[in-house]
Amino acid sequence: MEYADVAQEQREQRRKQRFAAKSTHMAQRYLRRMRELGGAMEQMEPFFSVLERVYVQGLDVERPCNAKTVGTYCVQVPQELIYAAGAQPVKLCSGHYTAFSIGDDVVARDACPLVKAIAGFEHMGTLPLYENCALMVVPITCDCKKRIAGLLRGRWPVHPLHVPANKDDEDVERYVADLYELMHMVSQVTGREVTYESLARALNLTGRAQYELSRFLRIKRSTPNLLRGTHAMAVMNASSYLDAGVWADAMGALNDELERRARANELVSHKDLPRIMLTGSPIVFPNLKIPLLVEEAGGMVVADETCMGERGMSDPVVPVDASFDGLMRSLAIRSLRPCPCPTFADNSQRIYRLRQMVRDYRVEGVIYHVLRGCVVYDFEYRLVEEELESMGIPVIRLESDYTDQDVEQLRIRSEAFVETIKLKKGPIKANRA
Ligand code: SF4
Ligand code: SF4
Repeated sequence: MEYADVAQEQREQRRKQRFAAKSTHMAQRYLRRMRELGGAMEQMEPFFSVLERVYVQGLDVERPCNAKTVGTYCVQVPQELIYAAGAQPVKLCSGHYTAFSIGDDVVARDACPLVKAIAGFEHMGTLPLYENCALMVVPITCDCKKRIAGLLRGRWPVHPLHVPANKDDEDVERYVADLYELMHMVSQVTGREVTYESLARALNLTGRAQYELSRFLRIKRSTPNLLRGTHAMAVMNASSYLDAGVWADAMGALNDELERRARANELVSHKDLPRIMLTGSPIVFPNLKIPLLVEEAGGMVVADETCMGERGMSDPVVPVDASFDGLMRSLAIRSLRPCPCPTFADNSQRIYRLRQMVRDYRVEGVIYHVLRGCVVYDFEYRLVEEELESMGIPVIRLESDYTDQDVEQLRIRSEAFVETIKLKKGPIKANRA
């Protein structure tokens, strides 16, 4: 090798080492803030640990039976198909600022930070979570996702999944056909055919995770101040990197503890704190700054309507009939019909779900989070604002980027919003402390 080539390689190596060190530091900082927030429970450790494993220790996810991993980028990709073909799905939407700063120079200036962070990891090639994927499944939902599919294709086999913009019968039919294609693609990668039995087993597996999630949401709804919303969001985010069965077991243990605490009235705060709901662009670890700022400002994030949070797994698969095709159809219907993502043309469903959540969680204020460049969510803000205002619920739009530079401005706005709700409620009632 020529001297100039060796020098170039060494420079590249040092650049990667610096990137890895900075990435680790950023993830560590957010994990520390989460733990320091107060109210974190021992039973949350398995969830925090997997975030630490992937983003601080830089290890790959644990894979039962050494299964291949398939990277996905949206909740509209049915994980059941991937499990049924003997692989493990991992969600690769990214909230990493260090990767974002690299991706910022790689993709279009106006792309959203989530996609820039994905591009950053792709470019640096240092994170085993990405590097070890045998296949990437990218849903074609918004322009940014479309572009990222092209970029990833240079390094991995990529399967673009064409998610329809509407949810009519013919759209569902087309989506079923696309899911069959996806099934064949994953089978080719793993060398294992999807059978009726393997698909049914996969449905049972994710069904167990959904059951524990529904238990978690029920407990959360019924007992105010039982846990911090930031911690709840971390628990949901961790499902991206854990086998669904492992996640369900850990959730079962957490739910048991939460039920015990609810009976003993062991709350994270005995004050009647402003009850805030988050909605809008995805909130992906380590970018938990919005829920952290709200809770550090004295609010309580009681619910989130985001796809990396409660929405990600909440809709169960209801088999339309007991045939193989019936199971495939059920997956397509579950992925499309209840999904309130604004990438769909008609969003009456999202409004309905938001209204329902406001009532269920007795929400007193809504923060509408918009990632810079995320036009699909930004576009919907006015409509959501009007609806919430008609219910007498204050709402603010917080635009953020994957950087610490906007933190102080976001802090001031979050604090002002929390104070406004406090004033509206009158003096805070404290049962104790
Ligand atoms: S915001 Fe919508 S399109 Fe984007 S990952 Fe979430 S569900 Fe998918
Ligand atoms: S929906 Fe928004 S956040 Fe998600 S990839 Fe598209 S532009 Fe980015």
